[in-house]
Amino acid sequence: MKNASIQNGVLPKHDLSHVEAFLFDLDDVLYPHGAFLSYDMFWETLNAYAAEQNGLSVEEATAITDRMRADGGHKDILKEWAVYGAFDFKGFTNRLDAVELANRMQPCGHTLRLLQGLKGRRIVFTNSHTTHAQRILAHLQLAEVFDHVSDYLTRGERLKPEPAVYHDLVKELSVDPSRCVMVEDTVANLAPAHAMGMTTVLIHPQPKPEARSAAYVDRWHTSLTDWLESVEQ
Ligand SMILES: [Mg+2]
Repeated sequence: MKNASIQNGVLPKHDLSHVEAFLFDLDDVLYPHGAFLSYDMFWETLNAYAAEQNGLSVEEATAITDRMRADGGHKDILKEWAVYGAFDFKGFTNRLDAVELANRMQPCGHTLRLLQGLKGRRIVFTNSHTTHAQRILAHLQLAEVFDHVSDYLTRGERLKPEPAVYHDLVKELSVDPSRCVMVEDTVANLAPAHAMGMTTVLIHPQPKPEARSAAYVDRWHTSLTDWLESVEQ
């Protein structure tokens, strides 16, 4: 059953007795969806910054970004912008790191306890930069729960869903992909995980129908705690 939301008052259990490593995306997964750096907010922030850097209107910068993205593949749009014109990576990450978190999200003791209850290693597997991951985890008081963080910078400026990134991570962790579960809000990032034999979980309050029914999505839950409460080991 893919839609694993509560049915008739009962949450179907997710048997993960075989799992040794839990791989969590960070943004829109470890804090409530939309509270900070959603997919849309990332692109809006990037387009505003690229516009400033290159003397363009936001509309012009957005059109250029959209053309870069329309080409498909696993392009790093930040690098594309640096080639196209000017894009100061450090200035962009400083801007994201300056966003006040206190009004956007709060530590959640329930989430912490559920994460602590998982049997296996807990990994953050994010496309964000190092200082972003560090300050989100610190703010949410979750830093101690995780054994390892794989971010854009620590793995050499490479992005999910490039399959090699996943292969390198399981090698680094010395874990069989079939003993991993990958938890994500960006559905495309689950495809390489599933192809390797990982169990995949989509966390999203309102996924597109084609996302929640994708063959590479094993479970869909509306929130992280909803899923964590269903885990059985
Ligand atoms: Mg995310």
